[in-house]
Amino acid sequence: MQGNLAAVIERISRAAAAVSRDSAGLTLLAVSKTFGVAEVLAAARAGQRCFGENYVQEAVEKMAQAAARWPGPPLQWHMIGPIQSNKTRAIAEHLDWVHSVDRLKIAQRLSEQRPDHLPPLQVLLQVNVSGEASKSGAAPEELPALALAVAALPRLRLRGLMAIPAPTDDVLLQRAAFARLRTCLEQLRLQLPDLSLDTLSMGMSADLESAIAEGSTLVRVGTAIFGARSRAAATPAP
Ligand SMILES: *Cc1c(COP(=O)(O)O)cnc(C)c1O
Repeated sequence: MQGNLAAVIERISRAAAAVSRDSAGLTLLAVSKTFGVAEVLAAARAGQRCFGENYVQEAVEKMAQAAARWPGPPLQWHMIGPIQSNKTRAIAEHLDWVHSVDRLKIAQRLSEQRPDHLPPLQVLLQVNVSGEASKSGAAPEELPALALAVAALPRLRLRGLMAIPAPTDDVLLQRAAFARLRTCLEQLRLQLPDLSLDTLSMGMSADLESAIAEGSTLVRVGTAIFGARSRAAATPAP
């Protein structure tokens, strides 16, 4: 695992250097879904601080186990999976970031349920940049109104956008999808100059180079760090 993590960090710095970007502006989110707390702690010992999870219950249990056993600097936890409205309270009470907000109702619940003693929940809007090929995410044309409404919610802080483009091996298609998300963020920044929209969550194990070339500030990497997930465990519970 440590070797894998080092190799991913090396891929990130090469990809950044190839487009003359400073890799200091890039965050690596280690996607630990389906892996246990032992793997999280091994990554933490190797210097990894940010972890991503898809399923709320799994995230909350793993966070508690990790907190009890990790003496080092705080770990940061990001929810990246689809959000059902009956799961918003657990997210609001435990997570640091949410990448997968794609409708106002979910954002309103998260804001209402975010405890006052915690810092605002850091929020990304998930965008569907692949059209019919994807079901989740707001349509790009819905973004201006959605962003404005989400930015007004008191216990959330809107930070940017996230996308999971339809998988493809074609680097040009990968880059075109990531460029669509970057363009969405550029337009939002013009529309909402007072918000510091600074985060573009895009790129995974198979396409992080394309994402970094198109301006990603946060890559979400599971398989390349922790290894293959078993098929059963990788399928979301109904
Ligand atoms: C599982 C997952 C990832 C990580 O994917 P890998 O291909 O294993 O790197 C990234 N983002 C989201 C939203 C995921 O669900």
